[in-house]
Amino acid sequence: MAAESEARLLDGKSVAAALRESLAARVAQLGYAPGLAVVLVGDDPASAIYVRNKERAAAKAGFESHVFRLSADTPEADLLDLIARLNDDPAIDGILVQLPLPKQIRADRVIRAIDPAKDVDGFHPENVAALALGAPRLVPCTPRGVMKLLEAAGVAPRGARALVVGRSGIVGRPMAQLLLNADATVTIAHSRTRDLAAECRRAEILVAAAGRPRMIAGNWVAPGAVVIDVGINRLADGSLAGDVDFASASKVAGWITPVPGGVGPMTIACLLENTLTAAEARRTA
Ligand code: NDP
Repeated sequence: MAAESEARLLDGKSVAAALRESLAARVAQLGYAPGLAVVLVGDDPASAIYVRNKERAAAKAGFESHVFRLSADTPEADLLDLIARLNDDPAIDGILVQLPLPKQIRADRVIRAIDPAKDVDGFHPENVAALALGAPRLVPCTPRGVMKLLEAAGVAPRGARALVVGRSGIVGRPMAQLLLNADATVTIAHSRTRDLAAECRRAEILVAAAGRPRMIAGNWVAPGAVVIDVGINRLADGSLAGDVDFASASKVAGWITPVPGGVGPMTIACLLENTLTAAEARRTA
């Protein structure tokens, strides 16, 4: 009987593969390989892996990726010069600067320097404002990927009680905004939230993006809830864990994403989609 109450798995790998396939037809229509510039400053090992994955996915999907690896002591002015060149380069449709940046470089200055039309991470204030005003242009890749996972599961956010755990500019805030734009009733929890377990138990859609391994226990999850685990946490033994305790939560939830293989592949597929969207918009501008 236990098997009948197991949540259905929301498989990000296959949803991402389908999304990448749908991009191929749009690339053919565009008539050239969209150009994605990825800038990596320093030698943070996790960032290096993310950049390599993005480079590989771009090449596989027929995009032209240009990776710029700069040393950890790169002055801010040099990075701003590179961005100015990429802004002006007609072969570049999308620009992504991998975060975090070394401490001599102000991330907000760098993000503001990117042409909003090429800002495929969706972090530029103009793109943040467009999302907040309900008229999104380039939307941050991870929350966009979560919305596509919900769609793939046939989950309609309209009217649903949604909880987003985390309020970062990269995940939590744009996630809440997208759910709100889709007519969910949205609560945002963070480290100062008084009773997180109670907030979680009320949620029909629960998006965890706190960066705390297995913090959300199965008995915090409402029966039948859709649980999307954005967290990627490296444990002491080198393995990866999400923010949700998958073993217990999957016995209660209606749908659940695995880590890895849930939101991660969607983030990369949505980065490609954003790059293509930017290329299409520049072509028709
Ligand atoms: P941040 O550290 O920037 O933000 C974490 C957020 O979680 C903050 O708002 C923080 O609250 C909140 N938080 C921390 N601890 C608690 C707690 N105990 N209870 C409630 N809220 C808490 O992280 P990111 O948003 O950048 O990333 C979140 C997670 O998602 C990480 O594990 C990251 O690796 C992963 N990630 C995964 C991606 C993917 O593609 N799958 C892409 C990007 C991130 P406060 O604001 O009060 O400090």
